[in-house]
Amino acid sequence: MSSLQEAKTRDAADPLGKWRQHFDLPEGVTYLDGNSLGPLPQKAKAVMQDAVERQWGHDLIRSWNSNDWIGAPQRIGGKIAGLIGAAAGEVIVADSVSVNIFKLLTALAKTRPDATHIISETGNFPTDVHVAAGAAEMLGLKLKLLPRDEITSALADDTAVLLLTHVHYKTGARFDMAGITAAAGAKGIPVIWDLSHSTGAVPLDLPRDGAEYAVGCGYKYLNGGPGAPAFIYAAKDRQEALRAPLQGWMGHRQPFAFEDTYEPAAGLDRMLVGTPSILSMLALEAGVEVMAAADMQAVWQKSQALFDYMAELMAARCPQFQMVSPTDAAERGSHISFAHEHAWPINNALIAHGVIGDFRAPDILRLGLTPLYLGFEDIWKAVDILGRIMDRKEWQKPEYNAAAKVT
Ligand SMILES: *Cc1c(COP(=O)(O)O)cnc(C)c1O
Repeated sequence: MSSLQEAKTRDAADPLGKWRQHFDLPEGVTYLDGNSLGPLPQKAKAVMQDAVERQWGHDLIRSWNSNDWIGAPQRIGGKIAGLIGAAAGEVIVADSVSVNIFKLLTALAKTRPDATHIISETGNFPTDVHVAAGAAEMLGLKLKLLPRDEITSALADDTAVLLLTHVHYKTGARFDMAGITAAAGAKGIPVIWDLSHSTGAVPLDLPRDGAEYAVGCGYKYLNGGPGAPAFIYAAKDRQEALRAPLQGWMGHRQPFAFEDTYEPAAGLDRMLVGTPSILSMLALEAGVEVMAAADMQAVWQKSQALFDYMAELMAARCPQFQMVSPTDAAERGSHISFAHEHAWPINNALIAHGVIGDFRAPDILRLGLTPLYLGFEDIWKAVDILGRIMDRKEWQKPEYNAAAKVT
């Protein structure tokens, strides 16, 4: 295995090394789970203190106007838009990814009254398929789940919507967004791209790739905090046709006219439902601002270097793990996954040694490669510790084999 000194030399030459200071990471922890819950940005601490003490504590309800709480969904959406190649007004922050999938899916399915089914991928993230199943049942449609190599050929004139996750949460495999959007578009089928493992992880340009609809997550690579609100993207010329069945007052043309009749707001504002969770919104804004200030091409370059380094170290030191992520960078996101039948206790042993990665059932050890606060030394140390855990069979200890509610 290459030396620790080499890792240190690479870190010293890393132009992104200075970004780590923007995050509050605990001493002695190597954090390889920023793809599941991003760490605390320094900026978010100050923002949260101000939000609680001044805006909520002192300014009270006046803050809806004076601190522009009411404009948070659009304002933060505008900042996320810059990360995905979209224009202001094409992204709005609201609810969770799950709820946003429901809103978009039902709104789009209603525009295709002759369709019979929704298509998604077998093994897609569970919430995506569960929400799609519920929406399909409500709309009288079937949900077809297909392996990824059968999806394009299954697209038909009576397909209502295609729902895909751009970067797979387990393997990191990335779909060809432009190719699939074009294939679906040729049959008039709208595609919803779930960008949960893409935004802030890989360079994105949705308009370039022809993508018209997407949802994305705030608490992963955007470092927006636990349970941060999610976002919806819809191309400008597609927004007026969207009518989601969740007709809340925040999506009304004039919420404060308090009218009995629902009239959708202009543009994406209609995708809002209830009162936004302002504290979470403001924490998300801090995370998005940090991400938006970084050079995404440099982030992606370093992600690839970290990936190659980890793959090389793992092959040398821990060959009993089978890498399941694509080796071609154009075909993956920013995490690296390994299969091992004892991945659950192994991950618990790693966490006990300060290396936080995660486990995805049934047998995947998933490690997030987040270039703004991880360096080559972190990767070296993680593999070194994993190697020692395997040598000593330390993962066999009973405490590492106990079940947990959240994995
Ligand atoms: C993380 C993730 C979600 C999360 O959905 P929530 O409603 O925010 O819990 C959804 N889809 C994918 C693909 C994810 O990776």
